[in-house]
Amino acid sequence: MIEATDIDTSYGGIQVLWDLSFSVSEEEGVVAIVGPNGAGKSTLLRVLSGIQPIDDGELTLWGEDIESLQPSDVVDMGFVHVSEERNLFNEMTVEENLEMGAYKRRENMESNMQEVYDLFPILEERSSQKAGSLSGGEQQMLAIGRGLMAEPKILALDEPSEGLAPQITDRMFEKIEAISEDVTILLIEQHVNKALSLAETAYLLENGEFVAQDTGQGLLESQHIEDAYL
Ligand code: ATP
Repeated sequence: MIEATDIDTSYGGIQVLWDLSFSVSEEEGVVAIVGPNGAGKSTLLRVLSGIQPIDDGELTLWGEDIESLQPSDVVDMGFVHVSEERNLFNEMTVEENLEMGAYKRRENMESNMQEVYDLFPILEERSSQKAGSLSGGEQQMLAIGRGLMAEPKILALDEPSEGLAPQITDRMFEKIEAISEDVTILLIEQHVNKALSLAETAYLLENGEFVAQDTGQGLLESQHIEDAYL
């Protein structure tokens, strides 16, 4: 469970997140954070991962204060962040990349890998291929698969449809919905309609502040979304 109260953060003295309060529990399916470019969505995920420090406020993950945690502790506790950059090991094979995701979960590695392959069969076909030679969609599947290998309780996905063709994007959203049956997904997306349609809870972030919170469907139908995006 993630609980944030009035958190602020800044880059080089320029504040980018203001007084954010929210919680995400592993009982939830999809929690979406949407907002225009530069709103601070990726920064928020970096804060939750323990990569970006907070200036003020309180942030706990499963009751532990983020200030006492290293980014690797955050992963061990169950919060796994698949960043926009994907950060694959391009010279390593698909299978080796998946193994890297399991570095602290060796005991279930084989069965977890099979689950990833069942979810994304193309990865099994490409298991001996170098990650750097995969298509954009396959690389995104691998990045998500590697995240799943760490057995997350909450999996944060930063723009999983970034750079994907429309048809592949639709399939990616189907996969995200399937994953969310077992793992809570914290989803950041530019495809606002698709993200909010999936989300039980959703937040609209603008200029580093939450300006609306509702069910996904409620936010989708709200004036806030119309004002922010039209
Ligand atoms: P996008 O949808 O375009 O990815 P975002 O909502 O994820 O945007 P962030 O990437 O979190 O937004 O950026 C929030 C603000 O912080 C922006 O003004 C950005 O320029 C600034 N910013 C992000 N990373 C850094 C950094 N490493 N150093 C300085 N400023 C940064």
